[in-house]
Amino acid sequence: MAPATDPYTRASFGLNTGNAIPAVGLGTWQSSDSQTRDAVKHALQSGYRHIDTALNYGNEKEVGEGIRASSVAREDIWVTTKLDNPWHHRTRQGFETSLKDLGIGYIDLFLIHFPCSTDPDDGSRHLRDWDYVKTWQEMQKLLDTGKVKNIGVSNFQIRHLDKLLSDPSCKIVPAVNQLELHPYNPSPKLLDYCASKGIHCTAYSCLGGHTKSPWNNHTDLVENPTVLKVAQQKNKTPAQILVKWGLQRGTSVIPKSVTPARIDSNFNLDGWSLTDEEHAEISGIKTRAKVVGDSWMPIKVFFGDDE
Ligand code: NDP
Repeated sequence: MAPATDPYTRASFGLNTGNAIPAVGLGTWQSSDSQTRDAVKHALQSGYRHIDTALNYGNEKEVGEGIRASSVAREDIWVTTKLDNPWHHRTRQGFETSLKDLGIGYIDLFLIHFPCSTDPDDGSRHLRDWDYVKTWQEMQKLLDTGKVKNIGVSNFQIRHLDKLLSDPSCKIVPAVNQLELHPYNPSPKLLDYCASKGIHCTAYSCLGGHTKSPWNNHTDLVENPTVLKVAQQKNKTPAQILVKWGLQRGTSVIPKSVTPARIDSNFNLDGWSLTDEEHAEISGIKTRAKVVGDSWMPIKVFFGDDE
């Protein structure tokens, strides 16, 4: 896979489908309705061309409104959304729901959000007789609708991908695996595994999930002393350093912000890079922490940083 090159704001990564995903996108998890609309509009008007959302975030309508309010042409924008766990056995319906709520005609990238099929009537139960291999069979059929350009997965670890890729029903290798990736959860083996299969990785929570909420674990990554030191050396913000660290590993990145000045600065990436030494210094951070856990799901999904 081709590494991102300067200017980063216009860079993209080639996918195994022949399409290219813009290297930097805007995350929208835990953005309220009006915040989402405004943030998406502001980001697109500032040059972002990639927006990440999910049925689970409950803000696809507002993402669509923000896109339309931006006046940026639909074909110039990449939109990723995701199938929620209780919809695995109703993949087509879940997809149609997202498509209708977004109101944007087609979806650029549709992901299985987690390798976990949840009973819609009881979130504490895994669906009987259904797993993500069956869901992928339904995802593959969606390509025939012409309303989705690329399909992929999210939060799939090596063991999930091994099972999926070795199943005879798997005719299409996922284009993307969207994963929690940052210096506290770098997952080098998983990245190498995905690269060996031609799967591009997108880094979520690339700022360490700075949001304080009941739904995620807050980390202090943007205040980590090594990150602060490199930021000071480069006269950049810690967030810019973290975004650049992810890009220079060959991952696309989707930092979330509803704050216009942060949306702008997180995208102010052209004309500078981390040196190999600076990149290695950040990679050498020993702290390990995860923003997204699996205790709210009926089955275990995460098995350590790299399994
Ligand atoms: P991030 O690591 O992107 O951190 C977001 C937080 O950082 C917000 O609180 C934001 O505040 C703050 N922030 C943004 N910019 C700066 C800055 N320059 N300086 C300091 N703080 C800053 O966390 P997320 O967990 O939201 O991940 C990003 C996106 O990835 C999500 O929004 C979602 O789209 C996707 N995601 C996907 C998952 C999956 O399972 N596939 C799981 C989790 C996330 P503020 O908004 O107030 O500016």
